[in-house]
Amino acid sequence: MAFGDTFEDESSRDFDSPFLKYKRQRSKPNRLKIVAVIVAFLAFGLCLLLWSTTPEKVKKHDQLKLQQKVSQEPLQRRRKKMYCEPDPPKQNATLVMLVRNFEIDDALSSMRQIEDRFNRRFRYTWTFLNDEEFTEEFIQLTSGMASGDTEYGIVPKEEWTWPELIDRTKARSNMRKMEEDGVIYGGSVTYRHMCRYNSGFFFRHPLLLKYDYYWRVEPGIEFYCDLNYDPFKFMKDNHKAYGFVIAMPEYPKTIPSLWDATQRFAAKYPKYIDKNNAIEFIVDGNKGIEGEYNMCHFWSNFEIGDLNFWRSEAYLKYFEWLDEEGGFYYERWGDAPVHSIAAALLLPRDRIHHFADIGYKHTPWMRCPSDDESYISGRCLCNRQESFDEHVYSCLPRWFQLAGRSPGSQAYRPSF
Ligand code: GDP
Ligand code: MN
Repeated sequence: MAFGDTFEDESSRDFDSPFLKYKRQRSKPNRLKIVAVIVAFLAFGLCLLLWSTTPEKVKKHDQLKLQQKVSQEPLQRRRKKMYCEPDPPKQNATLVMLVRNFEIDDALSSMRQIEDRFNRRFRYTWTFLNDEEFTEEFIQLTSGMASGDTEYGIVPKEEWTWPELIDRTKARSNMRKMEEDGVIYGGSVTYRHMCRYNSGFFFRHPLLLKYDYYWRVEPGIEFYCDLNYDPFKFMKDNHKAYGFVIAMPEYPKTIPSLWDATQRFAAKYPKYIDKNNAIEFIVDGNKGIEGEYNMCHFWSNFEIGDLNFWRSEAYLKYFEWLDEEGGFYYERWGDAPVHSIAAALLLPRDRIHHFADIGYKHTPWMRCPSDDESYISGRCLCNRQESFDEHVYSCLPRWFQLAGRSPGSQAYRPSF
C-alpha cells in the first residue's frame, strides 16, 4: 500500500503540475553548484592567507609605489605615452573655458567632445579661468581629460567687481525691477561680472597674453561633428578675426541703451568704424548707424577668434566707452551683443566667419551643418531638421544675405 500510495502521488504530481516539477528539480541538491561554492571558498581562503602572511612592509611599499606613480609622474608625461605620433604643427592658440568648480561634470563633458572630435589630433592647451581658486579635483580631472597641457588662471579681483563709478543703489534697484519683469539673470550680480569680464578682460588675462587665437568653450555644450582641420590655421590663413556658429536676437530688455551708447561712440570716433563693416547684419533696411539695432548677435558661448582684435585700440576704446556708460550693471549688457556689435562695426565683414561645418548645441538651441556630405560621410551626428538655422528667430539669413551662404561641408582641407 505504502509503495502504491507513493507511486500514485508521484505520478499525479508529475502529470498535473509542471510548476511543482520545476520546484522539485530546483530543490534537488545540485552537486556541481556545491563543488563550485567550495572551490570559491577555498580560493578566497587561500588569498586571505597569502595576504595576511605578507609582511606589512611589502604591503605599504606597494601602496606607496602606486601613490608615487599617480601623484609624482607628471600628468602630461603619462598622457603623452598614449600617443605615438609627434605633436602636429600648431598655431599660437588655446581653448579657453571660464568656469566654476561645481560645473566640473559639464566641463568634462564639453572637453571630452572637443577632444574626440578635434583636439586629440592637435593637442592645443586648455586654459581654465575662474574668479575663485580651482579645486584639486577640478585640476586633476580636467588635466586628465586634456590631450595636451592645461593651465589654470584666477581672474584678478579688480576685474570681477563693480567698477567704482557704478552707483550700486541704482544698479540694485534696476536689478530688482528686471527680476520682477522676468528678465533672465535680471537679478544676478555675478552674471553681470561675468558678462563684463568676457567683454573687456579675458583677452588680457596673463595666461592668454601669449596667444593670438582662442576658442571659447562653455561647460555643458555638445559638439556634433568631426573637425578634421585646424580652425586656428583656417583663421590665420584667411585673415579671419571672429568665428561663430549660431546667430539670434538679444532680449531687448537687457540692453535698452546699448545701441544709443554705440551710436554716440561711432559719432565721436568715426575712425574706428571700418569702411567695409557688416552693419547690415545688425541694422535692417540699409539705414546704417542712424538706423535701429535689430538685436541680432553672434551667440558668444561659442567663439573662435583673434585675441588681437579684442586687444586693438578700436575695441578697447569701445569697451571703455561702454564701461563708463554703466550698462553692464544698470542694465544687463551681455558679452554677446557687445562682441557682435563691435565685430560688425570695427571689422571688415570678410574677417567674420560662419563655421557652417560645425554642429553645436548650447541649451536650448542647436545647429547642424545643412549639407549631405557631412552626414553621408558619418562626420556629423545631429538632426538637421531641428537646426536653429531654420528657426524663425535665426539671424543667419541676414548673415547669408550679407556674406553669402557657406555650404557647410568641409571646404577647408589643408595638409598639415
Ligand atoms: P548663459 O550661457 O548665458 O546661460 O550663462 P552661463 O551660466 O553658461 O555662463 C557663461 C559662462 O561663464 C560659462 O562658461 C560659465 O561657466 C561662466 N560663468 C558664469 N558665472 C560665473 C561665475 O560666477 N564664476 C565663474 N568662474 N564662471 C562663471
Ligand atoms: Mn552657458
